[in-house]
Amino acid sequence: MQHFNDSADVGHFIHGERTAGDTTRTQPVFNPATGAVARQVRLAGEADVNAAVASALAAFPAWSNTPPIRRARLLLKFLELMNRHRDELAAIITAEHGKVFSDAQGEVARGIDIIEFACGVPQLLKGDYTDQVSTGMDNWTLRQALGVVAGITPFNFPVMVPCWMFPVAIATGNCFVLKPSERDPSASLFMAELLREAGLPNGVFNVVQGDKGAVDRLIEHPDVRALSFVGSTPIAQSIYERGARAGKRVQALGGAKNHLVVMPDADVDQAVDALVGAAYGSAGERCMAISVAVLVGDVADQVVPRLAERARALVVKNGMEADAEMGPIVTRQALERIEGYVALGVEEGASLVVDGRGLKVLGHEAGFFTGGTLFDNVTPAMRIYKEEIFGPVLGCVRVKDFSEAVALINAHDFGNGVSCFTRDGGVAREFARRIEVGMVGINVPIPVPMAWHGFGGWKRSLFGDMHAYGEEGVRFYTRQKSVMQRWTDSTPKGADFSMPTAK
Ligand code: NAD
Repeated sequence: MQHFNDSADVGHFIHGERTAGDTTRTQPVFNPATGAVARQVRLAGEADVNAAVASALAAFPAWSNTPPIRRARLLLKFLELMNRHRDELAAIITAEHGKVFSDAQGEVARGIDIIEFACGVPQLLKGDYTDQVSTGMDNWTLRQALGVVAGITPFNFPVMVPCWMFPVAIATGNCFVLKPSERDPSASLFMAELLREAGLPNGVFNVVQGDKGAVDRLIEHPDVRALSFVGSTPIAQSIYERGARAGKRVQALGGAKNHLVVMPDADVDQAVDALVGAAYGSAGERCMAISVAVLVGDVADQVVPRLAERARALVVKNGMEADAEMGPIVTRQALERIEGYVALGVEEGASLVVDGRGLKVLGHEAGFFTGGTLFDNVTPAMRIYKEEIFGPVLGCVRVKDFSEAVALINAHDFGNGVSCFTRDGGVAREFARRIEVGMVGINVPIPVPMAWHGFGGWKRSLFGDMHAYGEEGVRFYTRQKSVMQRWTDSTPKGADFSMPTAK
């Protein structure tokens, strides 16, 4: 298989073929560990998006009429290929994103979970049936594919987030156009080629690389029936509003500021392990990363010194090195944004306990590295508390009791993930019931739901009604049809002018 090890431009995948497309606009793709430009990605213009949508539209009648069991069998072949190539995919992720290899392997595994779920599509599309709703009449519901649907994905999970979308979309009979992040575009082409190898008909899955221009065309295109978006909140909101105005079904998952509450009765060692992994894992570039520790009562005096010790000892290096705990930041621009927030936190009066800025990694001096940063005495009025930093910066907020912790979190604009560490079942139950956040962990720091449960935040972390993947995903990519049927020998004679009722 020809993929990523070349330095050639990363192009599109349209109608079963790689193509450089119609435009010459490109953007550099970096290796964040070295800071070097690894290759260029093509940025699709209108003609490229139109070609991908036209290919998907042409494939739709045959694909949507293919029996679900046959679509599932094809996905099973794709699943087998994904499993066979999982480490190659993980290496592609690390090379363009920077996250450590074991984390990239975990990302691929969580993407594969969704493909496994999608292989059960015949069961998921079974529908409901009621015999004899009236004498001689039956009623059933079925779910049918929408048509051409598009996915627009962020840089931080170049395999897993597309897998939240396309396996469910194509299993349910839709044809898909993926617009991956321009910062780490190569994994999308690798998956496209595995789908082709599995026997997917041309046009059922297409990739257009690009930026805002490609997204705008997907929003406007009359043949695109639905948009799934995952990325930052301002873009999510804009895509939701513009897509809805264009008559499309839209699910748009946005940014986050995830809190982890440590109750005074928690196992402090466990809570510290959880905070360190969830704040600094993937350099904090996860939508489910913990960026705020909410320390209840006097537990802060035990937690903060241990966090500081651990943050200072983080092993930060090229993600391909076996002992790396944290890799580089995706781009220099993102690194500057993160270090800018650290400076802001100091200005705002938070206590800078560990300063990760300016870290240099031996042999990788031009890489986009920063160390783990820890703030104490963060307050809700500070911008470093309110805004998503999306980097390895953990802020500690001290509160007096459980109620104050819940009120603090419920007042935040974001509501993606949250966690509570406690040994008290009653507190845990109250927390899960009262907290206004879409995904809750009890003694679990990163509660990313399993493939059959669906993923989605609340408030400004999700625009739309349905979560990604799971049964919510099946509902998103299908529309319900209800059929009532009766045959002539049971049809009453004569026109009936009253509202029909069961007879
Ligand atoms: P981003 O919003 O910059 O980009 C996401 C996608 O939108 C990319 O494909 C990009 O090309 C496209 N895009 C960028 N600017 C655009 C514009 N002006 N108009 C139209 N499209 C545009 O996000 P990112 O930096 O790639 O990813 C990080 C963000 O994603 C963080 O905010 C993170 O919290 C969020 N995220 C959320 C979830 C979730 O499930 N809620 C999951 C992963 C990432």
